Amino acid sequence: MDSLPYFLLLLLVVSLTTLVWVVFRYRALRSQLRKYERILRQSASGDTPLLALPSNVKRLEELSTIVKSMVTSLSTQLSSVDSNRARLAAMLDQMTDGVLIASEEGRIQFANPAAEKLFGRGLVERSVPEVLRNHQLIQAWQRCQELDEMQVETAEIKGRRHFLQLIAIPDQHAPGGSLLVVQDLTRIRRLETIRRDFISNLSHELRTPLASLRALTETLQDGALADPDAAPRFISRIATEVDALAQMAQELLDLSRIESGQVSLERKPVAPKKLLVSAAERMRLQAERAGLSLQVDCPPNLPNVSADEPRIEQVLVNLIHNAVKFSHPGGEVLLSADIVTDSFTPWETEAVEGAVRFAVHDSGVGIPADDVPRIFERFYRVDKSRAGGGTGLGLSISRHLVESHGGQIWAESREGEGSTFYFTLQNA
Ligand code: ADP
Repeated sequence: MDSLPYFLLLLLVVSLTTLVWVVFRYRALRSQLRKYERILRQSASGDTPLLALPSNVKRLEELSTIVKSMVTSLSTQLSSVDSNRARLAAMLDQMTDGVLIASEEGRIQFANPAAEKLFGRGLVERSVPEVLRNHQLIQAWQRCQELDEMQVETAEIKGRRHFLQLIAIPDQHAPGGSLLVVQDLTRIRRLETIRRDFISNLSHELRTPLASLRALTETLQDGALADPDAAPRFISRIATEVDALAQMAQELLDLSRIESGQVSLERKPVAPKKLLVSAAERMRLQAERAGLSLQVDCPPNLPNVSADEPRIEQVLVNLIHNAVKFSHPGGEVLLSADIVTDSFTPWETEAVEGAVRFAVHDSGVGIPADDVPRIFERFYRVDKSRAGGGTGLGLSISRHLVESHGGQIWAESREGEGSTFYFTLQNA
C-alpha cells in the first residue's frame, strides 16, 4: 500500500510531461501549418513560388512533395496553354477572313482585325444584326442559333459593292453562342465577272468574221469561183477576214502573256525623242496615205527614261495607229513629251513628279465622255461601226505594257474635237 502514492506521483509526472510535450508539438505543428498556409496563400495570389514550401515538417513531407509536383505539372500546362493562346492570337490577327465570336444574347465578344476592316472598329459588345447589317446574313446567324447547325450564306452588301460569305458555326464551348467567319468574296466575284465577260466577248468577236468567212466560201462554192470578176474580190475579202482573225489571235496571246507576267522587260535608259521619232517613222506612210500630217515635238533636254524600247514603241505605234484610224483626211497627229510637274493625273492616280509624260494628240472624231474611262478595257470599242476593223485589244495591251513599266496611261478627249493619249515613264 506504501507504493501507491509513489505510483500516483509517477503517473502525474508522466501525464504532465506528456501534456507539455503534446502542447509543445501541437504549437510547433500549428506554426508550421500557418507557415504552410501563408505560403500557399501567397502562391495562390502569385507572390511567392510554391517551391518555397517547408519540407521538414514530419508527416507533411509527403504532402509537400505531392503539392510541389502538382504545381510543377500545373505550371508546365499553364505555359503550354499560354503559348497556344499566343499562337492562336497571332493566327487570328493575320487571318484575311473576319472572325467574330458572339454570345448567346447575340453580343459580339471578340473580333479580329480582318473583321474590323470589314465592319469598322469597336465591334465588341455590339449586337450581331447591328454589325452584319444584311438580313440574309442575319437570318443565317439566327438559323445557326435555332438549329444548332453550321450555316453558310453569301450576300451582296448594297452601297458598298461588297460580296460577303458568312459561315456561322455553333460555339461548342458556350451553349447558344456562335462563331462567325466572314470572307470577302468581292475580288473573286469581280474576277469571275471579268472571265465571263471575256469569254462572251471573245465568242461574239469570233462570230462576225467566221460568219462572213462562211458566207464568202458558200458564195464561191455556189458558182462565184467560176466568175473571173467576182472570184478575186471574194478571195481578197477572205484574206482580209483571215488577217483580222490572225491579228486578234496574236493580240490575245500578247495580252495573256503580258497579264500573266511572262513578258520579261529589258529596260535600258533611252531618250524620249528617240522613242517618238522611231515610232513616227514606222507610221509615217500610213498617216500620209490617210491624208494626215504626223509631227514630233520633243524638247532635246529631257532626261532618259527607263524602258524596254520595242515594247514602248509598240505602245506608241498602237496610239498613232488609232489616231490615224479615227481622224479625217487633212487632220494632224502630234507626238510630244514633257516632264510631269503636277503629282496627279486627271484620274487622280498618282504620277511620279519628274517622270516623262508622252502624248499622242489627234484632231480626229474624239471619244464621248462616258466612254473615255472604258476604252482601256479588253474588246471595248466606242462605236463598232466606225472602229475600222479593230479588235478593241490595242489599248488594253498598251495599258498593260505601260503599267508593267511602273507608268500610267490615260486619255483626254472631246467628241468631234480630237483626243490626246498620255502615258508616263520613270526616269532612268
Ligand atoms: P481598236 O483595235 O478597236 O482600235 P483599241 O483598244 O486600240 O482597239 O481602242 C478601243 C476603242 O477606243 C476604239 O475602238 C475606239 O472606239 C476608241 N479609240 C481609241 N483611240 C481613239 C482615238 N484616237 N480617237 C477616237 N477613238 C479612239
